[in-house]
Amino acid sequence: MERLVHLVDGELSDFQASRWLAIEDPATGAQVAQLPQASYTLVNKAVQSAKAAFPGWSSRSAEQRAVVLRRLADLIDSHADTLARYESLDTGKPLQLARRVDIPRAAQNFRFFADAITQVASESHQTSAEVINYTVRAPLGVVACISPWNLPLYLLTWKIAPALAIGNCVVAKPSEVTPLTATYLARLCAQAGLPPGVLNVLHGPGDPVGAALCEHPDIQAISFTGGTATGAQVASAAAKQFKKVSLELGGKNPAVVFADCDLPKTVSALVRACFANQGQICLCPSRLLIEKGVYQAFKEMFVAQVQALRVGDPQTQVDLGAVVSGVHQQRILAFVTQARESGGRLLAGGNAVRVAGRCERGYFVAPTVIEGLSGDDPVNQTEIFGPVVTMMPFDTEAEAVSLANASRYGLASTIWTGQLSRAHRVAQRLETGIVWVNCWMLRDLRTPFGGMKASGVGREGGQEVLRFFTEPKNVCIHFGDADI
Ligand code: NAD
Repeated sequence: MERLVHLVDGELSDFQASRWLAIEDPATGAQVAQLPQASYTLVNKAVQSAKAAFPGWSSRSAEQRAVVLRRLADLIDSHADTLARYESLDTGKPLQLARRVDIPRAAQNFRFFADAITQVASESHQTSAEVINYTVRAPLGVVACISPWNLPLYLLTWKIAPALAIGNCVVAKPSEVTPLTATYLARLCAQAGLPPGVLNVLHGPGDPVGAALCEHPDIQAISFTGGTATGAQVASAAAKQFKKVSLELGGKNPAVVFADCDLPKTVSALVRACFANQGQICLCPSRLLIEKGVYQAFKEMFVAQVQALRVGDPQTQVDLGAVVSGVHQQRILAFVTQARESGGRLLAGGNAVRVAGRCERGYFVAPTVIEGLSGDDPVNQTEIFGPVVTMMPFDTEAEAVSLANASRYGLASTIWTGQLSRAHRVAQRLETGIVWVNCWMLRDLRTPFGGMKASGVGREGGQEVLRFFTEPKNVCIHFGDADI
């Protein structure tokens, strides 16, 4: 049984942890590792080591920092098979998905921000012939990066990479549910030439470890991805000390399908989008709004393709692996029961799947499609974060927009149409931070990423996140001879 380690001040150790958590493979139910829980003393040690490393790291040139980050990206690439195996083991996601998406993207995150910081321009504003302003942006100091279990290495590196690239030192806390790849990354840091203390990785539950980090007076900013309720706790801890905070939270994403779309392409794209990673991506569409004229045709094609999805052992060629835990499986199935009680009709799935052999104790859920619920039904209002989608018909464009926006969340939406003007018009009206037209999860890392309403505060990606991780200072110079 592997005993995992923290990374603090360049040292990989359990630091004589007195509490340990069991880490389970959700595909088999077997315990695969033990996770040490950081004490308050260790949280403080990590923050102090980051603080001590900050002057050295932040005073390196952008190119010098970029060299180290590129080395880390290369190391992720050369260890990609092992990292993918760990990611699949920890989350239950198909190994092929981890190998194709999660791990390459983690390397890309480091490479992207290594390049980005060599391209950052500073600003100046000439106010008059004798006055000029220039703005410098300095890294903040020590920042906390807290990430969830659904895309463990992908999302952790999406935060760490820009924070380090622009010159901050980081104390990271990956999800205690899926700590394997973060621990592996911690082991690669020294090889990449990252000085001790620049990146620290602490393990343990959100409360107390994440909470202790958020409350630590030497943490200047918190970059958090996770659930909306947790986000509120993080924001309130940050507010007391006026810390900068970036929150990437939950979603209940609408897909708006118009009758003029390319139906076969739309259906196949939405089947992939809704059930990717077992529906456990914050961006997965979960409310399918379909124009009445094509509702029946969409439904027949969609349900047939959903029923053909293969659920099973993540180490084999499957479309869906296990959901992340037994507790999460039960939570997802409880929503199905609730949907039935509210008069919802099950068109596909709705049950746990038993996978024979190695995975007979695993936590699998059949991809589920439900129709007949109103837009304000709790099942249409609550984030399920599993392979469950609902279908609702609409008559007019205005009704589609109103149904799509009738949610406390505002993360991502998709529009499926062949009409250019409609695509732009509806995109302007949807209350989501991200809109995809005739595609899903097509990512350009330069674009702002994040949600409105209860889906978050602030944006990640490109220049947005580099701004978040820096403090601007404006210098105003008067160089005229006249009195002022
Ligand atoms: P979670 O909120 O339970 O946990 C997220 C992280 O926060 C974990 O590392 C956890 O240990 C930590 N945490 C918990 N309580 C804390 C506290 N009081 N203070 C500080 N840290 C604390 O979320 P989860 O169940 O791991 O992930 C699923 C959620 O994440 C879903 O709601 C999903 O939509 C959301 N998510 C959002 C995005 C996005 O980009 N918007 C991306 C992925 C996941």
